[in-house]
Amino acid sequence: MDTVEKLGILADAAKYDVACTSSGVDRAAVGGRLGNSVAAGICHSFSADGRCIALLKVLFTNACVYDCAYCVNRRENDVPRVAFRPRELADLTIEFYRRNYIEGLFLSSGVLGCADRTMELIIETLRILREEYGFRGYIHAKAIPGASPELIDRLGRLADRMSVNVELPSKESLALLCPEKSKDSVIDPMRRIKEGIAEDRETRAALRKKTCYLADRRPRRSARSFVPAGQSTQMIVGATPETDRRILTLSSSLYRSLGLKRVFFSAYLPVNEDGRLPRLHAAQLEREHRLYQADWLMRFYGFDVDEIIDESAPFLDAELDPKASWALRHLDMFPVEVNTARYETLLRVPGIGVRGARSIVAARRTTRLGEAELRKLGIAFTRARFFITCKGAYQGKGVEYTPEALRGELRRHVGTGASGRKKVVPGQLSLWGE
Ligand code: SF4
Repeated sequence: MDTVEKLGILADAAKYDVACTSSGVDRAAVGGRLGNSVAAGICHSFSADGRCIALLKVLFTNACVYDCAYCVNRRENDVPRVAFRPRELADLTIEFYRRNYIEGLFLSSGVLGCADRTMELIIETLRILREEYGFRGYIHAKAIPGASPELIDRLGRLADRMSVNVELPSKESLALLCPEKSKDSVIDPMRRIKEGIAEDRETRAALRKKTCYLADRRPRRSARSFVPAGQSTQMIVGATPETDRRILTLSSSLYRSLGLKRVFFSAYLPVNEDGRLPRLHAAQLEREHRLYQADWLMRFYGFDVDEIIDESAPFLDAELDPKASWALRHLDMFPVEVNTARYETLLRVPGIGVRGARSIVAARRTTRLGEAELRKLGIAFTRARFFITCKGAYQGKGVEYTPEALRGELRRHVGTGASGRKKVVPGQLSLWGE
């Protein structure tokens, strides 16, 4: 089979993996080397209906010896099986880079024989790219659960970002749907990556110190950083009965204990017939969206899981975003005066995001803010007005200040931007498409 045919199969097989944000690393071009990397989030892929574009997003092989119930590549399935050779994939990446099709590589894989053998092949591909071709573009590589720590260390010196998929939100579900994987086989490599990042940071700090006591610990100047863009993971949502609260609690602990940069959620897509899987006809994309919103609140808005969702109602509100939902449960904390409220308080107002809160704090140094000024700053005034006062005047007049009445108003404005107009959501781009 030629390389293009393999690419068609392996790029298509990779489309279910969503953990592919490339933000987080800046690396300038260097004379005599190829490529650079920009920290601004490039989140692109290659397949026709994949979720990204400018990364070549591909599997090394779909010939997998594991049998994860939900996966199209599971060994039970009767699909064409192919694998790249390391040099073949490295050459392909370089050719695509030179033609300006891609800015980097997102490489995952089925398990070819065993975890370590698969890791060796991935490492060899990246070694050719980095050491023979001098490729400095972005590379996100998946580590295979159960891989040896030495191979994690080696891969970490070649990739910018690594990820090990948690796959499912509990070890019971993992045992049920992925019998060859276990909590330890997933968490151990993640822990090794975390330690590697910390060690690398320490040795680089030592490099900057002008003392000979630390000379033996200093890395060579040319040594690559260990996973400079950090690690991420992916979790499938809706294939097993865990609640949103359970999923968010796990995400929060992964951020805290393993220093993850991102937890990606992937709505379960029914592709296999299996008695262990739920009978769904479509992916729960709305649920996935709400989980991302909640994840955003935890990472950028200072919310705890317990604030977003409580045990008595462990699923996120399907009708409203989690911040609006929280605000309706805490109406006693509103309205807040935009001209005096603390930054952290502004962040809790529906319709005011991180950028909006910063703009308000900056603008009110020189002026008193009213509706016109807030609209100019890009605040979603149609939503925010129920929760704020401007110069002492409540902005949500005309609507009863009760959770029920405000819920109705907020639902009317779902999907509208600061201007109140409907937002147009662009479809996925496709390299193959018309
Ligand atoms: S390890 Fe599991 S999820 Fe990954 S390719 Fe193999 S069967 Fe699919």
